[in-house]
Amino acid sequence: MLVTRRSAIATGAAATLIGMASPVRALTPTSDQELGPFYPVQHLADTDADLTHVQGLAGTANGTAINVVGRVLDIKGNPVSGARIEIWQANAGGRYRHSGDMNNKVPIDPNFQGYAILRTDRSGNFKFRTIKPGAYQIPDGRWRTPHIHFDVSGHNERMVTQMYFPGEKLNETDFIFATAASKPSVISRLDNALSGDPNTPAYGWDIVLVNG
Ligand code: FE
Repeated sequence: MLVTRRSAIATGAAATLIGMASPVRALTPTSDQELGPFYPVQHLADTDADLTHVQGLAGTANGTAINVVGRVLDIKGNPVSGARIEIWQANAGGRYRHSGDMNNKVPIDPNFQGYAILRTDRSGNFKFRTIKPGAYQIPDGRWRTPHIHFDVSGHNERMVTQMYFPGEKLNETDFIFATAASKPSVISRLDNALSGDPNTPAYGWDIVLVNG
């Protein structure tokens, strides 16, 4: 926008008025997204926040390890403590640990947990370590861009959605991403400072439930 002196003054006046009223600025609610066919019908006993290892196995999941770090908030920005978060996702090759996944060209990775149950802390924070999920093709030939499924239960609200990655070419054509009321609300941001681990890329993503 071209900022003229007049518009700068007008903007300043508006800002002052907003400041005087001191309203709480509402956050954009995270858009919901469909559940999809691969919600785990059965999963491993290991449901902890490190999906790159399966308890009792010595190996490590194939693919690029990442951390996902975020908060669950209500629309006013208050943290939602104790929110329950279930996550599930495809492995690095784009295959789910699910009997219904017909992507049989790609094997299940025995060392990839694929599913976790998390709880936010008192400040609404959550964090998990996983593998960057691969894209996958569905039976009708269309591609799903890389994503992680979330089922989030706050105190007053439950939301099913999917988290996406920035800069993915397939985001532009993904038919489920296209249905998001607010696309920015479902795309994570690459922010390695969040990781606490210089060797692992970190993606930040906050989940906004309207009523917490
Ligand atoms: Fe999926």
